[in-house]
Amino acid sequence: MATASINGCCLTSSTVTSALRRPALRRTSIVATLDSSASPPTLIRNQPVFAAPAHLLNPSNGRKETFEIKATSTDNGVPSDPSYERFKEGFVYFKTEKYEKNPDLYGELAKGQSPRYMIVACSDSRVCPSHVLDIQPGEAFVVRNVANMVPPFDQSKYAGTGSAVEYAVLHLKVKEIIVIGHSACGGIKGLMSFPYDGTTSTDFIEDWVKIGMPARNKVKAQNRGEPVRLQCTYCEKEAVVVSIGNLLTYPFVRQGLANKTLTLRGGYYDFIKGQFDLWTLDYNFASSISV
Ligand SMILES: [Zn+2]
Repeated sequence: MATASINGCCLTSSTVTSALRRPALRRTSIVATLDSSASPPTLIRNQPVFAAPAHLLNPSNGRKETFEIKATSTDNGVPSDPSYERFKEGFVYFKTEKYEKNPDLYGELAKGQSPRYMIVACSDSRVCPSHVLDIQPGEAFVVRNVANMVPPFDQSKYAGTGSAVEYAVLHLKVKEIIVIGHSACGGIKGLMSFPYDGTTSTDFIEDWVKIGMPARNKVKAQNRGEPVRLQCTYCEKEAVVVSIGNLLTYPFVRQGLANKTLTLRGGYYDFIKGQFDLWTLDYNFASSISV
């Protein structure tokens, strides 16, 4: 039996811990309960704090609603809920092969975190920095967003990335911030191809990636006639430089640089060539790692 609870919603699995010992799958179940009548979340006010329209969450009769997702297996062992099985197997592997074999590390992490690095990487499923750079738990405070953008300091918007930079620098006191771009980035391709003529075709993406507009402008101006794919590659790297420049608009980042307690770096992961480049604030390549 394993149980996890998030904001009052309880997830229970009865077969997680025994999965490795028993090849034949049993019927499993996940039960998520949202009780809207008895004890809704009360951290802010006495009603559910979800952003979804109330009628989607509060049944008009006010009675307890229970949503049950059942993962059953057939006689040949094929699960009917592959995602449940995927995450179960993944967590069991992590728990047995990493968590339980490194009690010192996870014992320390249970007390708190003191990562040396803050990493800004793209949300792209192919570029997870923990995999690409073998980052260990507790080693890096990671922000991932579309096209690995760091917006300029602006308290009226961009609070998501801004708060992460603030927390990393002022509270975690990271020693280095590394912005990592990558090959074949869809966000950068969008930045290079959106018309930006007053029309829009997305709700958020065009406005978000135009943080890298200086990179787009520079690449388009200096590489007229070059293939679009090549221009996008240039922009993937220039956008990292723009983000590093934007980091300099944060007062606490500038203070850290002045005090020499903080270093800024750029990185570029080319998953087509299998190469990772790393450079420092003056944009001179410090090293190149190829595998
Ligand atoms: Zn990307």
